[in-house]
Amino acid sequence: MIYLDNAATTFPKPMSVRNAVVNSISNYGANPGRGGHDLAVRASEIIYKSRSKTADFFGEKDAENVIFTSGCTHSINIVLKGLLKPGDHVVVSDMEHNAVMRPLYALKKKKISYSVARVSDVSSDETLENFRNALQENTRLVVCTHVSNVWGTRLPVERITAMCHQYSIPVLIDAAQSAGVLGIDLDESNFDYICMPGHKGLYGPMGTGILITKHHDDLETLIEGGTGSNSALFEQPGTSPDKFESGTPNLSGIAGLGAGIDFVRSVSCEKIHAHEINLLAHLYDRLEKNKNIILYTPRPNVYNSGGVLSFNVKNHDSEEVAAVLNRRFSIFVRAGLHCSPLAHLHHSTEETGAVRIAPSYFNTISEMNVLAASLKKI
Ligand code: PLP
Repeated sequence: MIYLDNAATTFPKPMSVRNAVVNSISNYGANPGRGGHDLAVRASEIIYKSRSKTADFFGEKDAENVIFTSGCTHSINIVLKGLLKPGDHVVVSDMEHNAVMRPLYALKKKKISYSVARVSDVSSDETLENFRNALQENTRLVVCTHVSNVWGTRLPVERITAMCHQYSIPVLIDAAQSAGVLGIDLDESNFDYICMPGHKGLYGPMGTGILITKHHDDLETLIEGGTGSNSALFEQPGTSPDKFESGTPNLSGIAGLGAGIDFVRSVSCEKIHAHEINLLAHLYDRLEKNKNIILYTPRPNVYNSGGVLSFNVKNHDSEEVAAVLNRRFSIFVRAGLHCSPLAHLHHSTEETGAVRIAPSYFNTISEMNVLAASLKKI
């Protein structure tokens, strides 16, 4: 079996992550923050440790600015629905996932509009100008994915943020494909809102996600409820993270996420990124020699790419290719539109979709060779 669908969720998870999940369920599975007994206190400590590790890993000084969610979609919804008001305008890149586009589409009913800025395939200057030109007087937020989940394209998010800050416009970065792969230092980059899953490049369990922001006072809550704090009040606590973390937390997920961050740290983002790019560049070279393969992007490299590469086999639907890889060769990849129809319009693949290869730190060059050889047989 060769698993190459790590852009959806990483698999396998490191042994330390599996152990952390089992340990939490087996040894201290009480409700954190909901009781003064020893087991509840131990559970709270684990959540606190994971929160501190997350803050430290991303260069966020205050651990209370780290909000645990159920995934990147949840984090993005907290910002979009918590911040935007009728009459507001948003600029997004043409690489955004439906985790951004569907909430924005739903918000149209509340008179919130958006414009799309095209990402240039050749020049980050051009991308920056496209974003600048899309800004309006009522632009309240710019949303930009860090790495396209379809094409692996790396967007100039630091430059876009600096430009938006000249106009006092906050920026939401969707780090779904970059967290744990590209080093992110919030102290330097100044992203206002960064949303990410815990279950992809951070190697945590599914059902985990993170939002990091200093600007939580600007956000209304999506849900309210018990937090274990200020219980005498009906009013939702106004301070982060309690303001956004109502209900029993995902203790085993958050314990696993902490172990995932330890794993990434022990290897380093630089090494993980270089490994993934090395695999994809090797695959690219093999696919380039195959006359039946259509490649859409330049050869992956550490400066312009994340760990994702998509292509098509001439005269074949992408879903059909993925099904054959699955059935005949036990190679697991994702085909179709990858929840990102906008990104497919970018390379005119909205009808066929594309076959996506997304390795993790655990994949190997020999697996790339097996994939290339299997594609030759199709
Ligand atoms: N944004 C991008 C770019 C993604 O690739 C994904 C998932 O694939 C998401 C958002 C949604 O992440 P989650 O499934 O954790 O909600």
